[in-house]
Amino acid sequence: MKKDLYLDFDSTIVNSDKAICRIYNETYKDDPEFVKAEWRKHRNWSYKYVCPLIHKYNDNPVHVIQEYYGSEIFFEYLEFYEGAKEVISELKEHYKLIICTSAFPKNASRKVLWIEEHLPEVDEIIILIDKSGYGYGKERVAMMEDHSIFIDDHPKNLKSTKASKKYLFKFKETDYNGDWSGEIVDSWQKIKEVLLS
Ligand SMILES: [Mg+2]
Repeated sequence: MKKDLYLDFDSTIVNSDKAICRIYNETYKDDPEFVKAEWRKHRNWSYKYVCPLIHKYNDNPVHVIQEYYGSEIFFEYLEFYEGAKEVISELKEHYKLIICTSAFPKNASRKVLWIEEHLPEVDEIIILIDKSGYGYGKERVAMMEDHSIFIDDHPKNLKSTKASKKYLFKFKETDYNGDWSGEIVDSWQKIKEVLLS
């Protein structure tokens, strides 16, 4: 029987930060204080370092980031991390693929359609509609099946479930992914090595 493999979506399978930075750059390019947002420098949950003008001009910057995440253009700009699509297809042979992702209403519906179009091999999608937009809602999914595996870029999500094996997807340093003493994978090539060897 295939093992259950739970995969986070944003900033684990797809480079959400790159898409957010691209929208920001197009929105604020004419502002006198504009500095081009570079997704590799992203390290804060609400993008306050790479997208500072969102914080300057909006009382509720998290709400604006949510709007970006829910926009049609976000899903047009969304790209896989290198190798993610190919490795997921290979994993399909050995694992039941379950995407477990936090979302909010507008983002959730578009996300499901994107996954269906780009990752038809996925068996199940669990979406936690977290209206706060902070994406901490995964404790509601226990992941208690024997030998279940969970990969996520946020330690808080990993710690909140009972998956048998947990891996932090740490593509780069952020100010929320440091608190993790468990196993780390830093690329989809590494995930392939760990899960298919
Ligand atoms: Mg994530």
